[in-house]
Amino acid sequence: MAEKKLPFTKDEIMRVIEEYKTPFHIYDEQAIRNNVRSLLEAFSWAPSFKEYFAVKATPNPSILEILREEGLGADCSSLPELMLAERAGMVGEEVILTSNDTPAIEFKKAREMGAIINLDDISHIDYLERHAGIPEVICFRYNPGPLREGGNSIIGNPEESKYGLTRKQLLSAFAIMREKGVKRFGLHTMVISNELDFNYFIETANMMFDLVLEIYRTLNIRIEFVNFGGGIGIPYRPEQEAVDLKSVGQGIKKAYEEKIVANDLHPLKLAMECGRMITGPYGYLVSTVLHKKEIYKNYVGLDACMANLMRPALYGAYHHITVVGKEDWPQDYIYDVTGSLCENNDKFAINRKLPLIDIGDVMVIHDAGAHGHAMGFNYNGKLRSAELLLRPDRSVKLIRRAETVEDYFATLNF
Ligand SMILES: *Cc1c(COP(=O)(O)O)cnc(C)c1O
Repeated sequence: MAEKKLPFTKDEIMRVIEEYKTPFHIYDEQAIRNNVRSLLEAFSWAPSFKEYFAVKATPNPSILEILREEGLGADCSSLPELMLAERAGMVGEEVILTSNDTPAIEFKKAREMGAIINLDDISHIDYLERHAGIPEVICFRYNPGPLREGGNSIIGNPEESKYGLTRKQLLSAFAIMREKGVKRFGLHTMVISNELDFNYFIETANMMFDLVLEIYRTLNIRIEFVNFGGGIGIPYRPEQEAVDLKSVGQGIKKAYEEKIVANDLHPLKLAMECGRMITGPYGYLVSTVLHKKEIYKNYVGLDACMANLMRPALYGAYHHITVVGKEDWPQDYIYDVTGSLCENNDKFAINRKLPLIDIGDVMVIHDAGAHGHAMGFNYNGKLRSAELLLRPDRSVKLIRRAETVEDYFATLNF
């Protein structure tokens, strides 16, 4: 069971609302730090483990600085994301560019920063050479397609995915890069998303370790690091269970001993680039009830909308809702919880059991810390909300102001 508790009391959040006005996102710094520490602890057995935070999940420099302090790097896939990582003080190989359909300017920037470049296609070798030059270290993204060797029947449907190189291309690509003078090699994959079953991560590791061995045997290239991508899920529903990170770490350790140590390929550096599980559960969208409406169904209208968190509308995703001060009330009413967009899918919840709602109630939408504010948009003239940080000393800091109408008009000529 995933406990859906709030990290602040009613009095605390009401004081914050007085100062900043809803809607806003608020992140729990201490919880993020503790969470990162448990991920790193799960891999403390490894000769080297690096988590590159997927910046797209929560692209805020204050969050990135916290993560850097905890020892994380950044996984970027655009020029602004590279710049955010740089501004947050992440340098050199603490940054990896895992992009696809990549414009030259991103390769140039990554080279300038000394970031690791993770190529998504064999054709990008020439493109990279022409536009940015060949670096000393290179990584390739593997797409296992329908191969699923090593009993990977539980790995999804990678042959439908646009990412990565086929196995055959991968072997050629490493050989070509060695010819071009690359000295250090990495191997990457990402075949899982929002997964709660830890076995999938162990299967992925097994598949990658087999590949490291194959590359060594066929090309005599010793892979320096393996990056398993992100994809660790979070329990959005209270009845779900968080991924047991210790089991992931221990399962991968066993595979490492059987495949890497046993074949004299130790030490091999390991990496992940999780986003969702790092910040997702520790960010909350705080909103106020503006209206109640009773027609064929009962509606509760918030001052937040899909522009603040679009996962429910986009994926039909469940996000738990707590009504501040009514945590212990019986949940004997059923509502659709809506935003104000002129789109009927602008709903945070459909047929949700909640306590009796009154206008002015404060509703907190859980698990909005990743792909929440980050996916915001301006459709219908909606403005993106502020982001706040709840510090370990209980103070609250504004880490991104709310957009204004002037921001919205800034790119227009009148
Ligand atoms: C989105 C993404 C991640 C992070 O995925 P999470 O599900 O947030 O862990 C990591 N790597 C790449 C290449 C991605 O596209």
